[in-house]
Amino acid sequence: KATLDKILWSRSLQLRDRQEYWEASVEGRRMVESRRSLPAFKQRDSVLKAISQNQVIVISGETGCGKTTQIPQFILESEIEANRGAFCNIICTQPRRISAMSVSERVAYERGEQLGESVGYKVRLEGVRGRDTRLLFCTTGVLLRRLLVDRNLRGVTHVIVDEIHERGMNEDFLLIILKDLLSRRPELKLILMSATLDAQLFSSYFGGTGVIHIPGFTYPVRSYFLEDILEMTGYRLTPYNQIDDYGQERTWKMNKQIPRKRKSQIAFVVEDALRAADFKEFRPETQESLSCWNPDCIGFNLIEFILCHICENGSPGGILVFMTGWDDISSLKEKLQIHPIFGNPDRVMLLACHGSMASFEQRLIFEEPASGVRKIVLATNIAETSITINDVAFVIDCGKAKETSYDALNNTPCLLPSWISKVSAQQRRGRAGRVQPGQCYHLYPKYVYDAFAEYQLPEILRTPLQSLCLQIKSLNLGSISEFLSRALQSPELLAVQKAIEYLKIIGALDENEYLTTLGRYLSKLPMEPKLGKMLILGAILGCLDPILTVAAGLSVRDPFLTPVDKKDLAEAAKSQFSRDNSDHLALVRAYEGWKKAEVESAVYDYCWKNFLSIQSMRAIDSLRKEFFSLLKNIGLIDGNPAIYNSEGNDENLTRAVICYGLYPGICSVVHNERSFSLKTMEDGQVLLYSNSVNARETKIPYPWLVFNEKIKVNSVFLRDSTAVSDSVLILFGGSISKGNIDGHLKMLGGYLEFFMEPAVAELYQTLKKELEELIQN
Ligand code: ADP
Ligand code: MG
Repeated sequence: KATLDKILWSRSLQLRDRQEYWEASVEGRRMVESRRSLPAFKQRDSVLKAISQNQVIVISGETGCGKTTQIPQFILESEIEANRGAFCNIICTQPRRISAMSVSERVAYERGEQLGESVGYKVRLEGVRGRDTRLLFCTTGVLLRRLLVDRNLRGVTHVIVDEIHERGMNEDFLLIILKDLLSRRPELKLILMSATLDAQLFSSYFGGTGVIHIPGFTYPVRSYFLEDILEMTGYRLTPYNQIDDYGQERTWKMNKQIPRKRKSQIAFVVEDALRAADFKEFRPETQESLSCWNPDCIGFNLIEFILCHICENGSPGGILVFMTGWDDISSLKEKLQIHPIFGNPDRVMLLACHGSMASFEQRLIFEEPASGVRKIVLATNIAETSITINDVAFVIDCGKAKETSYDALNNTPCLLPSWISKVSAQQRRGRAGRVQPGQCYHLYPKYVYDAFAEYQLPEILRTPLQSLCLQIKSLNLGSISEFLSRALQSPELLAVQKAIEYLKIIGALDENEYLTTLGRYLSKLPMEPKLGKMLILGAILGCLDPILTVAAGLSVRDPFLTPVDKKDLAEAAKSQFSRDNSDHLALVRAYEGWKKAEVESAVYDYCWKNFLSIQSMRAIDSLRKEFFSLLKNIGLIDGNPAIYNSEGNDENLTRAVICYGLYPGICSVVHNERSFSLKTMEDGQVLLYSNSVNARETKIPYPWLVFNEKIKVNSVFLRDSTAVSDSVLILFGGSISKGNIDGHLKMLGGYLEFFMEPAVAELYQTLKKELEELIQN
C-alpha cells in the first residue's frame, strides 16, 4: 500500500503540474475566462464546501448553467489542487449515451487534454479511458452493470447522478441501490443534479441533505401557439365545444373553406395545422397527406412554413426544432434538403441531433456557422436538457416526445410518441432565450398545452415493471417487492405482483422467484419480455427474419392506416396481405413488399396504394436492425443472418413463435351458425378491432387467437391477432395453470424430443380436453 500511495502521490503532482501549465497558457486562460462566465462558477466554493460537509448533496439549476460540464470538473480540480488528483475517482452518469460522449469530449477540451487522459467516457460497447482517467462519464446503464460485479464500487470516491429530474427508470433504480451503498461506504460522496426545482424531493429521500441552487438568467421568449401560427396564413380557427357520443369535445371552426382543388402550399399548411389540432372533419385526399393520417404525424408542411417565416422575417439566430424521434427527423431532413433555402449550404446549416448520431455530427451541432448562414437543428428531446446548443433564438416545439435510445440495462423502451408535460414544454421554450430574446412556435393549440400534465410521471410509475423486475433479479437484489418498496416513489404493490406473476407465467421466473435460463437471457435484452421471447425462439428455430418484423411491428404505431372515409378500401388493401387469419403475418408480407419497393425507390407509391404509414414502415425497418444487433450483443446469434432464417418461409412455424411470445394473450374462438364469438378467461366475451383481418371473416378455421394487447372501451377489444391451432397452443403456449397441465406439458416436451407419435397423440387428446374444460370454466 505504501508503494502504491507513493506512485499515486507522484502522479498527483504530475496532474497538478499539467493543470497549472494549461491554466497559464494563452488558450487555457481564455478557456478559464469563458468558464467563469457560466452561472455555475459563482457557486463553485459553496458546492465544494457542501460536498466536503455532506455525504449527499443535491444541485439544481437551469439548463445550460454549467452543471454537467462544470461541477464534475470543480471536484476534479479541487482534488488536483490539493495534491489528491490521482487518489480521486469520479463517476458521472448520464441518462443517454450521446450525452456521456459529447460531455466528456467537451470537458477534456476545456482542460486542454485529449479524451482518455484525466477525462474519459464509457457507454455500452464503446469507451475511451486511460491509466490516468479520474473523471468518467458513463450511462446510468453502465454504472448499473458495474454494480453487478462490484457492488461496493471499490475505489470510487464520488458518484454524480445527472439529470435526475427526468426520473427515468434506470435513475430511480440506481438511487435505491446507492442509498444502500452509502451506509456501507461512509466516505463515498453522492451528488445529484437536476434541471428543475424539485431538489426537495431528492433531498428528503436521502434524509435531508444539502441543497444548492444555481440561479440562472434567460431572456424573455415569446410563445406562439397553433392558432397564432395559422393567423399568419390568413386562416383563422376558433375553438368551439361540440357534443358528441363521448360527451363534450373541443373542436375547431374555420373562417373560410380550404380550396379542395388546386391545392396551394398554404392549403397543405392549414391541413397540417388542422390535423395537429385533431380537427375531426379533416379528409386526407392527396398523396402529400398520406403520411399524416398517422395520428403521430407531425405537420412537415407546417414546420417548413414556420421555418420560411423565420428566415424571411426574423432576426438572426439558430432554430431548434423539437421532433419525436430519428424517423421523423430523417424524413423532415430529406424533405428540407431539396428546398431552395434549407437545402442550400451557403444559407442554412441543417443538422440533426438525436440519440444515434455519429460523433462527427455531434461536433457540428456546437460549431458556429459561417456569417450569413443560419443553423437549423432538428432534435429529439435530447436537446431539452442534456445537450445545450448555443446561439438558438427560435424554437419549434411539436409537443410530443418518445424515448429515442436505450441502453442494455434499460427497460421497456417507450416507442410511441406522447404529449409532453408543461415542464418539458417550458424547458423547450427556454432554449430560445439563452443569448437574446427569442421566439417559440408550438405546433399545438393553447388549450392542448393547458391540458398537459404538470410533470411527466416518473417512468417507474408509468411503464410495465416486467423488465425492471428481471433486472432486480439479475442484480441479485433480493425480493422484488421489498426492493421496490424502497424507491423514491414506489409503484403500486398490485402492479409489482402482476409483473411477477406474468414473469412466472411466461417462464422467466420459477415458482420461487428465481431467474430461469430464459429469464437470464431476457434480462439482457432491453425490450419487453414478450418480444425478447419471440426473437430468441425465432433465432433458435430459424425463422428470425419474419419474427424481427413482427416484434418491430408490435413496438410501433400500427402501420396499416384506416382513414375514416376510406375504411373499406384500406381494409381491403390490408386483407390482400392476409391469407391465413393473422394480422402479424399480414405485416410480414407488407414489409416484404415494402423492402422490394425500396429497392425500386417506389416506397411512396407502395405505401399510398396499400394504405401503409411510411413512418411506421421506416421505424420497423430500423428497429429490425436494432433488435438484430441486440441479439448479437448477448451472444445468441453471430455472423451470417441466413442460418437464423433457414425456415423463414414456414408460416406455420412463424405462427407458433408468435404464439410463444404473445402467450398468455389468448382467447378461444366459439363458432355459431353464422359467425363466431371470442372469449378470454378474464373478460368473457371480447371483440376484434375492425381493421383486424380476422374481423372480416365469418369463420376462423382455428380454435384460438393470440393477441398482443386488449383495450377496454365499452367492451374489451383486441387489436392484432393471429389464429393458432390446439397443438401450437399446447406446445408453444406455456402453462395454462399451475396445476397438472404444467406437468403434462413438461412430459410432452420430453416425448417430443424422440417424436414418439402415438404417445404424443394420446397426451394431446387429454390435454386438449383439459384445456377446453379450463376455458369453459
Ligand atoms: P447544464 O448541465 O447545466 O445544462 P452544461 O454544463 O451542459 O449545462 O453546459 C454549460 C455550457 O457549456 C452551455 O452554455 C453549453 O452551451 C456549453 N457547452 C456544453 N457542451 C458543449 C460543447 N460540446 N461545445 C461547446 N459548448 C458546449
Ligand atoms: Mg446537464
